Amino acid sequence: MQDIEAISNLIKKEIRSYEDKIQTNDVGTVVSVGDGIATIYGLDKAMYGELLSFPHNVYGMVMNLNEDSVGCVLLGKDTEIFEGDPVHLTGKVVSVPVGDALLGRVVNALGEPIDGNGPVEASSTAPIESPAPSIMMRKSVCQPLETGIKAIDSMIPIGKGQRELIIGDRQTGKTALVIDTIINQKGKDVICVYCAIGQKNSTIAQIVTKLKDYGAMDYTVIVNASASETAPMLYVAPYAATSMAEYWMKQGKDVLIVYDDLSKHAVSYRALSLLLKRSPGREAYPGDIFYLHSRLLERACKLSDEYGGGSITALPIVETQAGDISAYIPTNVISITDGQIFLTTDLFNAGQRPAVDSGLSVSRVGSSAQIKAMKKVASSLKIELANYNEMLDFSRFGSDLDDTTKSILRHGAVLMEVLKQKQYSPLSMEDEVIDIYVAQSKALDEINPNEINASLERIRQNIAANHKEVYTAIKETKLLSDETKSLIDTAVSEVLKG
Ligand code: ATP
Ligand code: MG
Repeated sequence: MQDIEAISNLIKKEIRSYEDKIQTNDVGTVVSVGDGIATIYGLDKAMYGELLSFPHNVYGMVMNLNEDSVGCVLLGKDTEIFEGDPVHLTGKVVSVPVGDALLGRVVNALGEPIDGNGPVEASSTAPIESPAPSIMMRKSVCQPLETGIKAIDSMIPIGKGQRELIIGDRQTGKTALVIDTIINQKGKDVICVYCAIGQKNSTIAQIVTKLKDYGAMDYTVIVNASASETAPMLYVAPYAATSMAEYWMKQGKDVLIVYDDLSKHAVSYRALSLLLKRSPGREAYPGDIFYLHSRLLERACKLSDEYGGGSITALPIVETQAGDISAYIPTNVISITDGQIFLTTDLFNAGQRPAVDSGLSVSRVGSSAQIKAMKKVASSLKIELANYNEMLDFSRFGSDLDDTTKSILRHGAVLMEVLKQKQYSPLSMEDEVIDIYVAQSKALDEINPNEINASLERIRQNIAANHKEVYTAIKETKLLSDETKSLIDTAVSEVLKG
């Protein structure tokens, strides 16, 4: 009898410890590691996107759930991880710090400071991936986001909550455009997030210096996943940056987020997918490359008043090869966004900077947010420039031009000149309205093109000094009344006569 009891106790004990053994599957073992990817055996309970903890404070994110192993990307150095190392499930997803403590800081894709100014004292964290706000939570775009760049605010206006792609070849002034836009948000209560993906650290250092010089770092956070970092860090960066932006949007604030640039993001995801042995598709990108950017950009929106009325305006940048906007990634992102600003090498080299191609650039929703004064003065700008470009091609063949053609060419040249703008000199909406009104009044058509921008500057100075009412009227009413127009006309004739 006693024997039987002893045996059954033994069996019970065995069963208990057998259960214990089963429960240990929240620890796995590294089977292989390299190129920022680790394959792990024994993590049956791992979830997609879950954070895994490795030795030496290295973390990973689950990306592949295979039948008998788990594929994971390492968010940190893979040189300290070896075959046979234990891996723990954390039950959490990858999160980053969010909040006002980030303002003025440069952080990496995990929100860790890399500017040498000590730790980020963030009060809370947020997961890097979160579902985009639903349709009912949104409102259509209704307020302008002023870029301070004449060519954009007049012809391709951007509204708060809009997603506007900036696309062009290398070295066409894409970054310059967004940096000017960030500088222009000073005093406008817009928080800016600049997410650099796959750029040189020296470029980022220059950008930080410029933003500091113009006092723009106070309301800006820079998320930098540089070219020297592993593909997983580049992949995570824009999602992390968006989570930071979302924190402010949910508090009812307006946020501007820049992704510079998404081509490099797509390339990093391709590298990662190939290393995870997912099957390649067109241009060797994985099948879910569209989803990569659509789920990111869908998070930008204007929230309805019930949800605080905050907004995220997204300016993704995409680099093209030899001006080919019909390549895979460009067409994907064009179809996800609400319009694109196309910058061309030809215009850039011809000295037309910012090199905005007015014919191929569109803003599908922004015009409903444009102020009336601007809408009125800029209404025919695009068509006049299209006419001008057509005539320009035509005029190269013949020498005899009729007077109408000549006047179209002359006026078009003036408009092109007026739309030129130096770097780091964004203009206020009032100044932009004045410039374009003056150009459209044809007052500048007889002036030497080289002197147009100088004349405009003198006109603005004259208005600021002697006809201040113009500024207050445009600012307060957002309209351009006949009275204001005649005041500007007076200022123009004063300057041009002088
Ligand atoms: P990359 O493809 O290397 O990222 P990019 O398209 O971002 O290049 P930028 O770096 O912004 O181009 O600009 C390229 C160069 O053109 C820079 O030296 C910049 O100073 C100059 N530049 C850009 N915009 C203007 C402008 N409006 N006026 C004068 N120079 C400009
Ligand atoms: Mg750039």
